[in-house]
Amino acid sequence: MPTEPGSLIFLFLSFAALILYDLRAFSFSASILQLRPNHRLSKLFSILANCVLLALIFVLGLPMLLSYLILYLVVLLELCMMFQGQAVLLLFGSGNFLFHLMDVQMIAAALYVLLFDISSPEEFFRRYPSSVFLTLLVVTALLEVFRRGVDQTALRLLLKNSGQLLFATTSMSLINVYLLILSVSYSGQAYSALAAVFLLCTGVLLFGAFYTALLHALRMSVLLEYKARSHTLEQKLEQSQEDLDAMQEAATTDALTEVHNRRYGLEALDRQLAAGGPGCVCFVDIDRLKSVNDQYGHDEGDQYILRVVRALSEALSGCDTLARLGGDEFLLLLPGRTEAEADTLLEWVREKLHASATSYRSSISFGVVALQAEERLSAGEALRRADAKMYRDKLSRREGK
Ligand code: GH3
Ligand code: MG
Repeated sequence: MPTEPGSLIFLFLSFAALILYDLRAFSFSASILQLRPNHRLSKLFSILANCVLLALIFVLGLPMLLSYLILYLVVLLELCMMFQGQAVLLLFGSGNFLFHLMDVQMIAAALYVLLFDISSPEEFFRRYPSSVFLTLLVVTALLEVFRRGVDQTALRLLLKNSGQLLFATTSMSLINVYLLILSVSYSGQAYSALAAVFLLCTGVLLFGAFYTALLHALRMSVLLEYKARSHTLEQKLEQSQEDLDAMQEAATTDALTEVHNRRYGLEALDRQLAAGGPGCVCFVDIDRLKSVNDQYGHDEGDQYILRVVRALSEALSGCDTLARLGGDEFLLLLPGRTEAEADTLLEWVREKLHASATSYRSSISFGVVALQAEERLSAGEALRRADAKMYRDKLSRREGK
């Protein structure tokens, strides 16, 4: 145990540096993991446990390897107590601490062997009690650099991404195992200058390897997060497009018959008239729907409308348009057809309706207007003419009965 006043001062300074490290590490872990420590007492316990451990290392003069292992286990236990994280997350936290401690000590010992008149790390720690304090200060400073230098959002993403966290933890554990093997191999030995240079270079290289693996895992976590988010956005976009299509369909479709509605029918009529080609505009009205409603009920009236729509749809070809204007009135656009062809088509529909097995007579009245190339009709005029012809058809058939 150190008894000289200088050693005692460094012993107390080491305790202070350790407490400082503990407090910084706890607040950093808590902010990254966005967790509250299980209870306040555990923080106090951890600081006390670390101090007792440090005192034991000083008093008993434990070998470095054993000190490392005990430190590692204590940190792991503390993290388990403080945070309810997954095992790999705890291993990541404790492995991180152990790596920095071992690597900084190895680099510091190698530097001291090269610069001063000492031959081994053990002698180094015996002769320079300030070394533990300085090492702990450097590890605390590195934690600060890490805290400020590494993007915290990326770090949170890494801790959430189990695959990348496993990669980072495995790489870190392999590096730690290598550091432990080096410590065992060189334990108790006098360093040659060559060995000191080798350990110094290895320490620096391992720093590079550690941070390369960590930065890779961080970048991958960010990339994978963006990929997952863009996939979700893509799905939402597809869903919105489907919803939009469904809304557009609903805005131009008649609810009962599922054929086009009045708005679509009138727009289609405008388009056909603007195109100016030959064709026919037909107005269709169901006969005696009101009395079917009155006699057999509104539901049967609906069935009557649907029967008419089925018959009309059967008669139409791909480029024709059928729209319900409202009530029992329908608009039929037959591009490229003559008036005679349109009459034949609608006569066929009427015959089909007459043949339907219902307790009342199903029928339609219709008026056909042929579009002439030389006469440019407005939509209103074309409809009015077709409606008037339909009305004459209705009247003539009523009178003919
Ligand atoms: P007409 O032979 O002169 O055409 O007589 P009509 O009974 O068909 O009477 P009109 O065409 O003047 O009126 C249509 C009627 O259709 C009025 C309304 O009671 C009924 N109707 C309108 N929309 C619907 C509907 O969606 N379902 C049912 N069941 N009836 C409707
Ligand atoms: Mg009618």
